[in-house]
Amino acid sequence: MLLRHTKKEVADRKALTINPAKTCQPIGAMYAALGINGCMPHSHGSQGCCAYHRSSLTRHYKEPVMAGSSSFTEGASVFGGQANLVQAINNIFTIYDPEIIAVHSTCLSETIGDDLPQIVANAEVSGKVPKGKKVIYASTPSYVGSHITGFANMVQGIVKGFAQPGIKSNDLINIIPGWVEPSDMAEIKRILSLMKVPSIMFPDTSGVMNAPQTGKHEFYPQGGTTSKDLSRIGSASHTCALGKWASESAATLLSKMAQVPFTICDIPIGLKATDRFLMELAKVSGHEISQELEFERGQVADIITDMHQYLYGKKVALWGDPDQLIPLTEFLVDLDMKPIHIVSGTPGKAFEKRIKEICATKDITPNVKSGAQADMYLMHQWILNEPVDLLIGNTYGKYISRDMDIPFVRHGFPIYDRIGHSYFPTVGYKGSMRLLEMMLSAIMNKMDREAPEERFELVM
Ligand code: SF4
Repeated sequence: MLLRHTKKEVADRKALTINPAKTCQPIGAMYAALGINGCMPHSHGSQGCCAYHRSSLTRHYKEPVMAGSSSFTEGASVFGGQANLVQAINNIFTIYDPEIIAVHSTCLSETIGDDLPQIVANAEVSGKVPKGKKVIYASTPSYVGSHITGFANMVQGIVKGFAQPGIKSNDLINIIPGWVEPSDMAEIKRILSLMKVPSIMFPDTSGVMNAPQTGKHEFYPQGGTTSKDLSRIGSASHTCALGKWASESAATLLSKMAQVPFTICDIPIGLKATDRFLMELAKVSGHEISQELEFERGQVADIITDMHQYLYGKKVALWGDPDQLIPLTEFLVDLDMKPIHIVSGTPGKAFEKRIKEICATKDITPNVKSGAQADMYLMHQWILNEPVDLLIGNTYGKYISRDMDIPFVRHGFPIYDRIGHSYFPTVGYKGSMRLLEMMLSAIMNKMDREAPEERFELVM
């Protein structure tokens, strides 16, 4: 019993987090920066922070992550990191020759008050940024928010660095995909191409964080949104921002800077959220939903019909990021499953409201909490009080799964102990099929494991 010290009685906590259901802001900023072609992320802080950000991403995506660090020592921590960052910008452009450097701050550089816009302007004025190259930046203090906040802040940084008003191109659509797997970004692009919608996705980590093995190391993989495309985002006729928490702020900024109207859509996880996304795409682009997508939708409906008897009434606990948990909860409710415990370390009361509204459609009253005290300890306490049949969330749920013998589907970030998630989508109809298969397999594996010999069936 690895978690034998968890107390069943839930006490209200105000200033203590135990096993957080979130991670550090700069990790999100770094992931967003990796979705730009030829971009070197840079961590303005100590080397230890940068090592943590890189290793977290590498452990999840199983890909090397290149990033610079301002390498703060005691001197920079006391007198400010301007000299370190200006030197770093010069070194990175001279030695590693990226198109763009994406700088994010850290707890330390924020606490001492380093002013990134001023330092970057200083580097530009002093000729440290070669002609045609760019330095973008985002403020990412990790003592507030989460990795999702950091991702959102860097996507805003991308808009700030590239957006310019332009003549609107009729059906060009911007897609801000939110923090999803590279495989999900590829699936969204496949959907767009099936509907023949011209689009710019930013950031786009497909082909970067799930790059093929070619036998040689590519410092800047071929994937990622190009500078050329980023310079056109202000000419799009509309922006579909997937996920309020990860994408709304960038879409809002783009609408202010370049008058591009936007819609906030849920990440298309599950049947209804995918339906809504496709209908929105059809509305704003004027393109029809393709027959291939209708065919895939029918397949999802068929699988749900086949699986319903096994999934019906199963209680589920889930944790992760709000933008993913909302459509995932909706999908579970549609399957007549019962999402009863839900936590997200990313703050936002709107999340709790939305989850309660979704659950209320089937008379479910879930335990739901967001923010710093919405942690894995609380999740375990809730499960001790009301056990569930299935867990869905990141790797940190494996302790609960083992102690309580509950089937576990890994989903979200981070997944450190399984491989393959960055190659197979969970968005769109194809992704719904995969989620359904993963959930039912986890539940049936337990049924097989525990069945007495006389009830161990070949056909289930
Ligand atoms: S000190 Fe702050 S920025 Fe650095 S790794 Fe820790 S939480 Fe992240």
